[in-house]
This record gives sequence, C-alpha cells and structure tokens, in this order.
Amino acid sequence: MNALIQQRLRNLGDASSIVAIRPINGGDINQAYYVETEAQQYFVKANKDVPSHFFEVEATGLEAIRNTESLHVPEVYRYDHPANGETGMMVMEWIEGETTPDTAALLGERLAQMHAQSNEKFGYHKRTFIGTLDQHNQLMDNWIDYYRDQRILPQMKLAKEKGHMGATRQTKLEAVIQQFDRWLPPKPNASLLHGDLWGGNWMAGEDGTPYVIDPSVLYGDHGFELAFTDLFGGFPASFYDAYQATYPLDPEYEDRKELYQLFYLLVHLNIFGETYGSSVDRILDRYA
Ligand code: ADP
Repeated sequence: MNALIQQRLRNLGDASSIVAIRPINGGDINQAYYVETEAQQYFVKANKDVPSHFFEVEATGLEAIRNTESLHVPEVYRYDHPANGETGMMVMEWIEGETTPDTAALLGERLAQMHAQSNEKFGYHKRTFIGTLDQHNQLMDNWIDYYRDQRILPQMKLAKEKGHMGATRQTKLEAVIQQFDRWLPPKPNASLLHGDLWGGNWMAGEDGTPYVIDPSVLYGDHGFELAFTDLFGGFPASFYDAYQATYPLDPEYEDRKELYQLFYLLVHLNIFGETYGSSVDRILDRYA
C-alpha cells in the first residue's frame, strides 16, 4: 500500500518521503489513511472493489457543493479510475479540528444557504452512488416524478431481487406511491442536496469549521435532506435552529418527513438486510 500511495503522491508533484501512514477507521466503504510526507498531510482513500467512476462521482459531487460557496468540503487533489480490479485511490486535503460550540449551528446555517439556491430541474444529470448502490439519475421537471421513478421504484425493484420485498410489503408500498401527490410538493425549490447527510458525513476542521464529506448530490426538496439528518441522529438542536432561521422548512415538512426517510430505509434494507424491514413497514403502515 505504501508504494501505491507514494506513486500517487509523486504523480501529484510531491516526491518527498512519506514520514507517516496511519489507517483511519470510520468509513464503511473504503480503506482510509492519514498520510504525511515531508511536505504535506493528506487523506487517502483506497478501494479495489468499486466501479471505475466511483471516485470521480465523489469528487464531482464535492465540487458541486464547493461551487455553491456555502458549505466547506475537502479539496480533492487527484483520483483514479480503477479498472480490472486494480486498487483505486483518491488523495484529498487532510481535515482535522475540534468541534466548538458553534460548529453545528454553522453547519445548519451553511447547509441552509446552499439549499436556498435554485436549480431549474430536479434530479441530476448523471449516475451517482447511494452508499455502494448505483443511483440512476435524470433531470426532471417534477419532483414527485423524480422521487418515485428514480428513487423509490428502483429501490423497490432491487429489494424484490434481493428477497426483501414480500407480497404484503410490496402491496403497501405500491399503495403509498399512489399517495405521493397528497403528501409531496411537485415543484419545491430545486436545492442542491448533499444527498447522504447522516452524522458520519460531517466533521470539524480548523477552528471548528464544519466540513461535509461523501456526498451523493442531487437537486430536490430540502425536506428530503433534513429528513435523513433526523433518521439516525448525529445533529444537535443548534443545527436545526440555525437551519430554520436561515431557510425554513414548510409547515408540511413534518407530515412528509417519513416519506422521505422511506428512501433511505429502503437503501439500508437493500445494503444491510431485513434489520431495517420493520422501520420500512412502520412507515408504509402510516401512509398506506
Ligand atoms: P467511506 O467513504 O469509506 O465511508 P469516509 O469518507 O467516511 O470513508 O472516511 C472514513 C473516516 O475518515 C470518516 O469517518 C472521517 O472521520 C475521516 N475522514 C474523511 N475524510 C477526511 C479528510 N478529508 N480528512 C481527515 N479525515 C477524514
């Protein structure tokens, strides 16, 4: 691994010696390392079981967020397009810091500033990943159509293939999909969303500045993003207060929140299995 990392850093123009390499825990997809050369510190991700466009999708997602000039993201120095089972790597800026009492509020405020910007259409112009799963995309005029056709239906199909979609669950899910018009807005503001914003995908940098990592970007209803932040925890009250003060959610948000969490729970069902089945069923029972 050291030789592979050294080679990537040379390609970047850093030919100085590596003085430290330390594995970083916490990710569930890639191997990650802290790398320090005589010249600089780096964060390096490595993976040999990913499609060739895996790192490119992550890098372009981070760039889309950076271009909104709101949230901070680590700089990407270079990435590979791994082919034929080769180890691919992505070399990034090393981020390190402690959260301060302001970090979560700043995260909420800057996320809201990003969401307040508008795109013309919903969805995204290219395929991304949600976790390890392929995320088909398309730019569409109607958010409900996008949410149904590009998000819920593909997860339903995958769940059937993986044996997680028994007849009862499928009938209820189909009934809920029929009700989408009742609960979801067809033309909300098309905000750039991080798309995979759980507690493990934000961190503090220098001076407690919040950074987001590992996005799965799309344009859509900001309620979709906030609903996921609220599914597994990891976001303090000051985050929500600052968010609401900057770009408030509709009063109807609470009624649609679980319909948005449904997507992420189906993704978890498909990646991790039936442990997430009861949460899916509870939501289906509420809306069916
Ligand atoms: P994965 O893509 O496998 O989920 P992550 O991107 O989440 O991996 O990274 C694993 C861990 O490394 C994270 O929990 C985070 O704490 C840390 N990390 C991620 N990016 C950086 C970075 N640029 N600098 C320092 N640490 C990072």
